[in-house]
Amino acid sequence: MTPETTVVVDESIDMMRFRTANPPGDELALATWLAERASAMGMSAVVQDVSPGRANCIATVTFGPGPTIVFCTHLDVVPAMLEETWTPQVRDGRLYGRGACDAKGPLAAMLAACRRLIANPPTTGTLILAAVADEETDATGALRLVHDFDADAVIIGEPTSNQPVLSSRGALRLAVDFTGLASHSSTPHRGRNAIHAAAKFIVEGERYHARLLEDGRWASHAATVVEGGTKLNMVPDRCRVLVDRRLAPDESLDAAEAEITQILDKLKAEDPDLSWAVSKAGVWLEPFTTPTSSRFASRVLHAVGAAVPGPPFPGGTDAPHFISRGIPAVILGPGDLEQAHADDEWVEIDQLAAAVDLYERCALALLGSTAESSRERDEILT
Ligand SMILES: [Zn+2]
Repeated sequence: MTPETTVVVDESIDMMRFRTANPPGDELALATWLAERASAMGMSAVVQDVSPGRANCIATVTFGPGPTIVFCTHLDVVPAMLEETWTPQVRDGRLYGRGACDAKGPLAAMLAACRRLIANPPTTGTLILAAVADEETDATGALRLVHDFDADAVIIGEPTSNQPVLSSRGALRLAVDFTGLASHSSTPHRGRNAIHAAAKFIVEGERYHARLLEDGRWASHAATVVEGGTKLNMVPDRCRVLVDRRLAPDESLDAAEAEITQILDKLKAEDPDLSWAVSKAGVWLEPFTTPTSSRFASRVLHAVGAAVPGPPFPGGTDAPHFISRGIPAVILGPGDLEQAHADDEWVEIDQLAAAVDLYERCALALLGSTAESSRERDEILT
């Protein structure tokens, strides 16, 4: 290992020791640690409050006039069932433990790239390292950051096996509350069973998912939570179903929501007594695709030496929150999403080291460019 790679591994481990499992997140202590580290490197760092106990770290360094480029990843991680997942270990050329690739390893690589850029600074542009809270649940950290924020491009640190990814699936999460009529369970025909109504919707949802697969759309639908019933001998008058619909990069949230409404309308046609209310659940993510012909994409691809971008990112990221503010995004980082939420999460140390180069090269390519004109940015984002 080079001395720099040793630092990247050590800082990954330091950050993995902060137990920022979301829920509840508790990112404040890690945000404070990171702000101190970035300040010591010569960055101007602030801890931005998100909610009690939760915070972002935003560290900035200005090299000269020109574009503002953001390295963004997250401080929180998913929970772990096994205690050993919380004990970082270096073994067989890999770093194991919660956060190794999602996303404390990528964050350490971004920090190392900042260190290199400060040591050998370009003459133009501003670099921001933004480590945000709550990516794994409600994105409150990224939403707090992008509120009243502008930049010319963002590099999102998530595990993509170091391939630049320029498109992502979206996510539509709905709560469907079925209402029935309670009755004694010895005379169920006098009531209307809300669980039975929900069951029909769940079965139709399974068929809908099968159709999405058959159509070859890279989309999915799943019922993920069911809550209903109060007592063994009562016909339930309420049942809630949460569904998680993942959107292909070329779909829209409105169209996906309309398809779920159609399923409910079809059930209503079969059973006019069916009654429900639909509401938003969790965070919604607009899918996106950045055309590879755009200047932003061609600069990024050229910088990292890739002929084509990697496949669309299957999971959620904070990229859509930047895109919705007109800031083009590339998702790039060491490790594989397969290992990201597993009990034995790991990342290849060689990939961590390579990511430092990639982040540095991306930043230099984008910092050295003139800012995208707003027309170009519109083209990228349409
Ligand atoms: Zn992540």
